[in-house]
Amino acid sequence: MKPITGSCLCGSVAFEISAAPLMFLYCHCRSCQKSSGTAHAANLAFPKDSMKWTQGEDLIQVFIDSKDNPGHPRSFCRNCGSPVPKRSRNQQFWVVPSGSLDSDPGMKPQANIYWAEHVPWYVPSDEIPKNEGAITP
Ligand SMILES: [Zn+2]
Ligand SMILES: [Zn+2]
Repeated sequence: MKPITGSCLCGSVAFEISAAPLMFLYCHCRSCQKSSGTAHAANLAFPKDSMKWTQGEDLIQVFIDSKDNPGHPRSFCRNCGSPVPKRSRNQQFWVVPSGSLDSDPGMKPQANIYWAEHVPWYVPSDEIPKNEGAITP
């Protein structure tokens, strides 16, 4: 199969994945809210030997949450702050932020996890109007 590619916002960190995703989840845990700056993370899981960095591995910074979800790791580009793939806590797979992908992973989100922690203002995007571009307050 053609590799699935991804990169950070500034383009310094780039990677390639050579396998199909195992799972695609929205994570509503407090740690993902804080680190993503929004309602939930949207992450894919890929087999542990399927991912390789093609660029910028030396720019990756790892932060370990000690407060909201102790031990929860976050990997991001030191230059632009974008989340980039990280090893799962059990080291058995890669957790890949869906927005970092530059090609279609061929899977759609399957479940919400940590729903118990979801933000009180959450509204599924399907339930609010869609505008082609920006709108102002
Ligand atoms: Zn970057
Ligand atoms: Zn989470």
